Amino acid sequence: METILFLSEVEADGTLPPAALEALGTAKSVATALGNAPLVVGLVGENAQSAAGRIAACGAGRFLGVVGPAFSQPRYASDAAAAETICRAAQATIVVAAATSRWNRVLPGVAQRLQGRVDTHMTGWAVKDGVLFLTRWYYRQRMEAVLQRAQRPWFILTDPGSQPAWPGGAGQAAVETLAVPLPEGSQRTTVIGVQAPAAEAQTIRPDAKLLLVAGAGWTKKQADGQTHLPEAERLIRDFLRLTRASLGSSKSLVDLSGEGQAVLSFLTHLNQVGQTGSTPRHLKGLATCCHGEEPHTVGWRFISERRAINLDPNCGWARGKADVLYVADAFAVMAKLNALLNHQSGAPQG
Ligand SMILES: Cc1cc2nc3c(=O)[nH]c(=O)nc-3n(C[C@H](O)[C@H](O)[C@H](O)COP(=O)(O)OP(=O)(O)OC[C@H]3O[C@@H](n4cnc5c(N)ncnc54)[C@H](O)[C@@H]3O)c2cc1C
Repeated sequence: METILFLSEVEADGTLPPAALEALGTAKSVATALGNAPLVVGLVGENAQSAAGRIAACGAGRFLGVVGPAFSQPRYASDAAAAETICRAAQATIVVAAATSRWNRVLPGVAQRLQGRVDTHMTGWAVKDGVLFLTRWYYRQRMEAVLQRAQRPWFILTDPGSQPAWPGGAGQAAVETLAVPLPEGSQRTTVIGVQAPAAEAQTIRPDAKLLLVAGAGWTKKQADGQTHLPEAERLIRDFLRLTRASLGSSKSLVDLSGEGQAVLSFLTHLNQVGQTGSTPRHLKGLATCCHGEEPHTVGWRFISERRAINLDPNCGWARGKADVLYVADAFAVMAKLNALLNHQSGAPQG
């Protein structure tokens, strides 16, 4: 019989990150599908009690915690030591965690220590005849594979946004606290603060319902033979402000800055979607002034409802990969859209 361990960090406010609740939903469903295999919760953080209480009704037989100030910060040495200790204490054969930057960095090393195997980018799973199969992506989300493994423990990192979150159920949970001796020198890394753009300047919003993809067309000469960068900036910024959408970009657009050309000032390579960028999972997507294959085939392949605005009716990627293509001038469409959104929100026009 398998033993399923759900592993998560605890946020400073005692909650679990949204992606962790998806991993918990997966762990619980997998345990049920494997004939009600034992489920164990493992929590790492300053304090685990309140997080355990929030998920007390998940059906776990044990709640294990590695707690204390040394475990409140993401740091390879302490996180790996904590995860290893929890896995051993739980005698876990399958470990499910969210594919956050924290666990993506740590769990492959823990799998190595425990002579297990790890799979990242899990987006689906099934149990057939008592055997767990998982679906994952390779090669920058271009190839999908379905696989099973005999080696244990098997570490599975679930791609955020791909699984239903466990709906919750609080109660009483008794956390067994595990002592973890920190390896020498493991506290050399200390988080002394977080530098992040102000909320308004932050254009990457994984939790947004809508992704706006901006292409290089925004910087190209328009019908009047001129470029309209300031207007493009204003239209995109206004749209993001009004909708709280996330901003993705084509590679061509973010690469322009490296070539010393006029660019949209708020874009960085972190905005890039596609084969060499990210593959976000928003509910809806709107591509504007964008022609490329990669942003359309890879960049928004996980977006459920896709629309594009392009002047070119023959843009094969926009036409082939969008549910709706508006053959129109994105400057005009976005200006009209922003005016409607402004009107809807009751904000003054501008
Ligand atoms: C190995 C490799 C990896 C790559 N990886 C990526 C990747 O990860 N992500 C990525 O994005 N690209 C990637 N690329 C580049 C990709 O192939 C394209 O070159 C790029 O995406 C094109 O960017 P674009 O569509 O913004 O610009 P363009 O190709 O210049 O298209 C601009 C579009 O804007 C339209 N347009 C102009 N004005 C308007 C207007 N007023 N209204 C409406 N539409 C307008 C035009 O009709 C045109 O279709 C990769 C390429 C290679 C070789």
